[in-house]
Amino acid sequence: MENLNIRALFPSDDGNLQQRNHFIELVKQIVEGVDDLKDPEAVHLKGNKERGQHFYRELTASSRIPDSGSPQDQVNEELLKLLHGHPYHTKYFLTNILPMASTPGILGMLTAFMVNGNNLWDVYGPAGAEAEVRVVAMMSDLVGYKPSESGGYTTWGGQGAIFTGLRIAINKHDPSIKKAGVPHNLYAFCSEAAHYSLFKSMEATGLGTNNLIKVRTREDSSMDTQDLEAKMEHVILRGGVPVYIVATTATTDAMGIDNIEEIAAAAETLTAKYGMRKPHIHADSALGGFFAFFNDYDFEGNPLQIGEETLTALAAIRERMRHLRLADSLCFDFQKLGQTPYSTSLFLVKQASDLKLVDLEPDETPYVGHRGYGDYHTSYTLECSRMGSSISILSALLAFGAEGYRKLLAQFVDVNIAFRKRLAAEVPEAVIVNAGNPGIITLFRLYTDRKNGYAAEYEGIRTKAEIERENKLNEMLFEILGRDRDKMFFGDTKKHLYVPTADRAGDVALYASKLFVISPYTQTSDVHAIVDFLKLKITETYAAYERLATKEKEHEKILV
Ligand SMILES: *Cc1c(COP(=O)(O)O)cnc(C)c1O
Repeated sequence: MENLNIRALFPSDDGNLQQRNHFIELVKQIVEGVDDLKDPEAVHLKGNKERGQHFYRELTASSRIPDSGSPQDQVNEELLKLLHGHPYHTKYFLTNILPMASTPGILGMLTAFMVNGNNLWDVYGPAGAEAEVRVVAMMSDLVGYKPSESGGYTTWGGQGAIFTGLRIAINKHDPSIKKAGVPHNLYAFCSEAAHYSLFKSMEATGLGTNNLIKVRTREDSSMDTQDLEAKMEHVILRGGVPVYIVATTATTDAMGIDNIEEIAAAAETLTAKYGMRKPHIHADSALGGFFAFFNDYDFEGNPLQIGEETLTALAAIRERMRHLRLADSLCFDFQKLGQTPYSTSLFLVKQASDLKLVDLEPDETPYVGHRGYGDYHTSYTLECSRMGSSISILSALLAFGAEGYRKLLAQFVDVNIAFRKRLAAEVPEAVIVNAGNPGIITLFRLYTDRKNGYAAEYEGIRTKAEIERENKLNEMLFEILGRDRDKMFFGDTKKHLYVPTADRAGDVALYASKLFVISPYTQTSDVHAIVDFLKLKITETYAAYERLATKEKEHEKILV
């Protein structure tokens, strides 16, 4: 392409019709190309993708930058091939918190891309700064923070929020740590069911994962506050300082919701007793925080005419979510239930002044900010340049409104309730093990005798070997569901709940399969087909298990 016009690779600078049409045609090609790949009865886009054993190695060997570029319509064809066989969020996409990006979310991103501002400084990215301030105020108001006092910014995931919470917690303990480095007697706490983000953050801050104390969970997967108190006291008596507590609201597996009110009270009482500063409490509300949309829903009048059982479930969730405002910081992963593309996570602090603790001094920022011009400089973020992802969040909040989010979440809960009922009626051997947690996730577990052995496991009257045998059976179901995930895509977990063992062989985690309702296209009318499918797979699992058990018995005979 010798006479390549390099400017043709960019949007226009004058808004001319010819370049605009060219751009729109190219976007249309992508959108139409994806539509051609869709099949609402499948869970993946059409197209074959042979991913042999050496797939990535072969890619590495064959991928080099072309010397001359290709026309974008040809590149588009190449891009569309990437999407062949890609998971897609149809009604049978039930695997995990992997949402579809909504149209408002995508258009918000597109808007941000059209000017490509740098959200680091409002002189470079005024649109991002404006949107960020607006969404921080909106979400602060939603959880009951005072928008005039709170602060926040968009960041790299719920994990980034947990990490920043820890940075703040450490600096709250002693601001000189910024220069002197971390002492080794600082401790953080979270439940056994918490996300591994805190584990990673402990490593990354240099505190070390040994200083992360895991607190037992109750049967509903929420933190056992008595155990928290006991473990905090233990740390204090040995010269440690509790600086950070992560309260998970809600857990990614069982939708367990920690009681922040109890946690805050326990932390306060205990640290007051020893004349210490109260630890920083971060609500890991990455996933569940969106249920705060029901905090001020009129449950009596029920204007959305939500069904009675779903309403009861939502009221139970609200009972925990209304305490979010007691946390010192929290997070909304808009890329999860906020219906926007990756990565659009929002970190909020109750007191904006907390961000000062992790900020840079003016003489450490020679290129940007701290000038007579510009009023918004995010020198406290761990990123330097930042995308204007708040524009996508703003778009979604304006287009859905509180009502849109409520409707969508209520639908997810509706489907779960219908699923639980039908599963119990049609496949009673699949025991629902998070029955106490209403919401968008249902966990179910099989037992070799086809009876409900869950209570016995929870009470600790099963031996390690017995629990492991049940786990093995459930793992076989994981494999069968995984193999057939092209038809319906379920999730699973190997860490539902830690239970004590009768033979005192330590706590053992229970395995469970997972139905995660995340697609707006999954409706209660689909539950029938979903349970029928599961029934077949569960029958196959028992048959495979029995074959295996017979074989093992024969093997034992030979050994004898
Ligand atoms: C998803 C999730 C995280 C991690 O968030 P990322 O956005 O993937 O970084 C942390 N905690 C909880 C409870 C989550 O659901």
